Amino acid sequence: MTDRSVVPVNFFEGGYLNRLSWLRSSHVFLNAIVVSPSTRWVLFKEGKPLVASNAPPLSDPIQSPDPDAPKGSRTRYLARLPTSEVRSLLGSEPFFSQGKVEGTLAESDDPVLEAARIRGPPIVFLGLHQDTTSEQALPSSDFSAKSDALAVAARIQGTAFFSLDVSDIPDDVLEVTLQETGLGKSGAKLAFTDARLAMGTYDYFDAAVVASARGLVDWNARNKFCPACGSPVYSLWAGWKLSCSSLLPWADNMGRKPCPSGRGIQNFAHPRTDAVVIVVVVNEANDKILLGRNRKWPGMFYSAMAGFIEPGESLEDAVKRELWEEAAVKVWAGSFVAQPFPANLMVGFYAIADPAIPTRTDLDNELADARWYTRDEILAVLAHPDGTKIGSRDPTKPLPKPDSSAAGALAGDDASKSNGTSDPDTPPQGPPFRLPPLSAIAGVLVSDWAFGKVVIGESRQLKKGNL
Ligand SMILES: [Zn+2]
Repeated sequence: MTDRSVVPVNFFEGGYLNRLSWLRSSHVFLNAIVVSPSTRWVLFKEGKPLVASNAPPLSDPIQSPDPDAPKGSRTRYLARLPTSEVRSLLGSEPFFSQGKVEGTLAESDDPVLEAARIRGPPIVFLGLHQDTTSEQALPSSDFSAKSDALAVAARIQGTAFFSLDVSDIPDDVLEVTLQETGLGKSGAKLAFTDARLAMGTYDYFDAAVVASARGLVDWNARNKFCPACGSPVYSLWAGWKLSCSSLLPWADNMGRKPCPSGRGIQNFAHPRTDAVVIVVVVNEANDKILLGRNRKWPGMFYSAMAGFIEPGESLEDAVKRELWEEAAVKVWAGSFVAQPFPANLMVGFYAIADPAIPTRTDLDNELADARWYTRDEILAVLAHPDGTKIGSRDPTKPLPKPDSSAAGALAGDDASKSNGTSDPDTPPQGPPFRLPPLSAIAGVLVSDWAFGKVVIGESRQLKKGNL
C-alpha cells in the first residue's frame, strides 16, 4: 500500500530516484549499470521529453506514488526505453571515462577524467529507483576500479534511469530507431512533447523525473564553452559537471595561459538552479487576494506575481521587491511552499498587503493588470469547468491550434476541448477570468487559500524592516 507521506505537495517534485551522487564519478559503476537490462532511458530532443500515447498500458512496476492514481491503466506516459533499444544512439564504448583515443578507457585517476564523456550525445545518470522496502545507500567501495563491475551491477536492486539528448541525431536515424522499439512496434505514437504541454500526461513519478532530467539536459545543451577561457567543455560525472577541455592531460596548450578554472577542483562548472519567488498577496482580513495579468498571457488569465531572486537577496527580500517593483504593493508577513521546475526553484509565498492602497501597472511593462478578488469570485472560477483551463497550459505561450501538432494533440483532452475553434478571449459562457491549474504552483497557492487550507503565518524576515 502506498504511503501518503510520499505524495508530493506539488507537481514536478518528489525524490523518487536515489541520485547516488557519490557514484557519479565512478566509471566502473556507470559503465556497468548503463548496460543493465533493467536500466531505462528518457529521451529529450531540444528540451522536449519523448512521450508515448495510445500506448499499451504501462506495465512497468514503477507507478505514481499517488494512492488515488489509477494503476497500470495509463496509455499515455513518459517513454522509458531499455538500453538495448537506444544502444545505437549512444556512441562508442566506453560510455564513461573516455580516453584520448576513441574506444579506450582513460588510464588515469585524474579528477578531470572522472566518468568523463568527451564523445557521443549528452547522457545524464539520473539515479536509481529502488523498492521503498529496500531503500539503502550503496557502498561506494564496491565500485573501485579493481572491482568486478558486472558482478557489482548484478547486485544492484532497482531501475537505473538515464537521460539521453538526441537533439544532434539526424531525424531519419532517430525515427527508424524509435519505430524499432517495443513501444514503436506496439503502434504507440512517440512524440517529443513540451514538458509543460504534456503535464496532463504525467503522473507524479514522471513529472519528478522530467523536472530533474530536463534541467540537466538543458544545462548541458546550453553550456558549450568554458566561462573562464572560452575553450570547449566536456562532460564529467555522468552529466553533472562540465570541465574545460584545456585541462585534459593531452590538451595542447602551447602559447596559452593556463585556464583559471584549473585552479582548484571547486572550479568545475555545476548545474544551476535559479530561484524564483511567486507570490499570492492577501489582505489582512484574509478574504481577498491580489492577482496579476501578464501582457503575454492569453485571455483573462490571472495568476500570482513572480520574479527571480537577485544576488544578495533573501527569499523574503525578493518577495518585497517584486511586489513593490511590479505593482507598487508593500507586503509584510507570509509563509511559503516550493516547487522545482527545470532550472528554476519556484518558491511560492503568501504575503499580506493593504487593498486600500492603489496598485500600479505602469512600473513593470509586462504587467497588464493587477486586481483584488474576493474569495467568492475565486471559488466561482475554480468551480467553473473551464476556470483553470488555459489551453496551452503554458501561460507565456500563445494557445496551440487543435490538431495542429503532436504537442497540441498531446496537451490533454481538456486542452483541446477548451480551445475548440472559438476565440479563447471570449468563450461562450466562459468564466469571468481564468486561474492557473493545480499542476502549477500558482494554482496550488490560489486554491489552497480559496478553500481555507492555509494559515497566513508571520515571517520574522518579512516583518523586519520596511521598504
Ligand atoms: Zn577554460
